[in-house]
Amino acid sequence: METGADIIALWPRWMNSAGAMLRMNALVRSRCAKCGTLLRVELEDIVARHGPGYSLFDRLERCRMVACIGSTFYVASRTYGRDWAALLRDPALVESFDTLAPTRTALDLLPAAASSAGAAAAEPRPHV
Ligand SMILES: [Zn+2]
Repeated sequence: METGADIIALWPRWMNSAGAMLRMNALVRSRCAKCGTLLRVELEDIVARHGPGYSLFDRLERCRMVACIGSTFYVASRTYGRDWAALLRDPALVESFDTLAPTRTALDLLPAAASSAGAAAAEPRPHV
């Protein structure tokens, strides 16, 4: 039978602290469970506020999207093109986020996102 200790052992070491993720140039985002908004997280800011040993695992914050009352959790990736891992270890938190809203970015807020891919490609897009 799998235990919590077994699961924790599978996490890469670089995910254990904001300082380690910063040294690895890892990518970190916050994701809202309610509205799905995905926002960039500046690891320099996290380290400056909380120190390099600060862990992002199981850290919930209020969503920064106006009018949303959801909670965000952190996701991390080693670099572009790699899988994103939710930084959640607490089984109760994992279960509470079992059903998530689809991820939303600025691309979902632009009118061009609703049109065909060809028309969308012709529209100027902000750098995301
Ligand atoms: Zn939200």
